[in-house]
Amino acid sequence: MLLVAEPILGEEEAAALSDVIRSGWITMGERVRSFEQAFAAAHDLPDAVAVSSCTAALHLILAALEIGPGDEVLVPSLTFVATVNSVLYTGATPVFVDIESLETPFLSLADAAAKTTARTKAVIVMHFGGNLVDREGWQKFARDRNLLLIEDAAHATGARAVGTLGDAAAFSFYGNKNMTTAEGGAVTARDPDVLHKVRQMRGHGMTTGTFQRHTSRTSTYDVTMLGYNYRMDELRAAAGLVQLKYLAQWNAKRRALTQEYMDTLAERCPTVVVPFARKRGSNSGASSHHIMPVVLPDGADRQAVVDALRDEEIQTTIHYPPAHLFTFYRKHFPLVELPLTEKFSRRELTLPLHPRMEMEDVRSVCSALERALTH
Ligand SMILES: *Cc1c(COP(=O)(O)O)cnc(C)c1O
Repeated sequence: MLLVAEPILGEEEAAALSDVIRSGWITMGERVRSFEQAFAAAHDLPDAVAVSSCTAALHLILAALEIGPGDEVLVPSLTFVATVNSVLYTGATPVFVDIESLETPFLSLADAAAKTTARTKAVIVMHFGGNLVDREGWQKFARDRNLLLIEDAAHATGARAVGTLGDAAAFSFYGNKNMTTAEGGAVTARDPDVLHKVRQMRGHGMTTGTFQRHTSRTSTYDVTMLGYNYRMDELRAAAGLVQLKYLAQWNAKRRALTQEYMDTLAERCPTVVVPFARKRGSNSGASSHHIMPVVLPDGADRQAVVDALRDEEIQTTIHYPPAHLFTFYRKHFPLVELPLTEKFSRRELTLPLHPRMEMEDVRSVCSALERALTH
């Protein structure tokens, strides 16, 4: 089966994990710190805080920026549900914003403007597919309204200038992302004080960690804020350090595969809309090419296409079922309607894209899609 996403893990990660086990120090030690520094350096950012997941990263960012009950946060619905859940964790209210278009399924600036109220404190933009949202547009939007700008960068690890648009960014190292620590995430922030607060909140709000007490003469600690246990451990950090070495090379492979998809789809499946086609592939590094979404022609039977591809051992998925239509969100936000998000989500299909694939795989997927669409 050709899978939509597949991690690359091997002997190097296995050796790195063994080293941690032999070292006897398994959590929040030197490897976590090295990983943070290497991750920041790979993105030309001064520093980062490693955490247990991107969901934890989003929660910590919102908490550190003091977003809470009574505040509204503009969010996409066309995202993984964690983006929206993180707002509810803080007691703030998520306000769903529609996408721009089928070709550019980013949060719509116009709809965001229409949905801004006196209570709006922040906006979370999501770099769909690893393509960065409009930097100037969102910076001006946030500046004009005095809003915090937060990047859900789960798709965009390794993309150029990610983490430099807004006040803070959240990254994911889940198993299907561009690099993985199995579970894991990271926070970056413009203001070093915010990052410092995130670091402290990650470990119960304690002023020192176990490793610091172990390596210095400090034997006690204080708790100066409400914290959480969102730590990363040494095993994950060790795997992350290996993965990070290959990130640029894997993303370059993703880029080449994406280019092949765009060329082949244009030729064989001209009725399919390829989001970001104009942006993507254009200049290297601008996108991390996380996924390969396509929008099927209006009226195509998506389930039949999914089944036909599955019969040819090709897995596909949907990015995303809109968050506002899930039972839980329907119950709490019954009146939300996002016509473009709903249309995109009904017609979207995500094709396999990962660095283990070859150009030949791309051509097979496109042929299978062409056959499925003409039946
Ligand atoms: C994967 C993902 C998350 C959540 O990441 P975890 O590390 O699994 O918590 C959040 N937002 C988006 C857009 C994602 O793709």
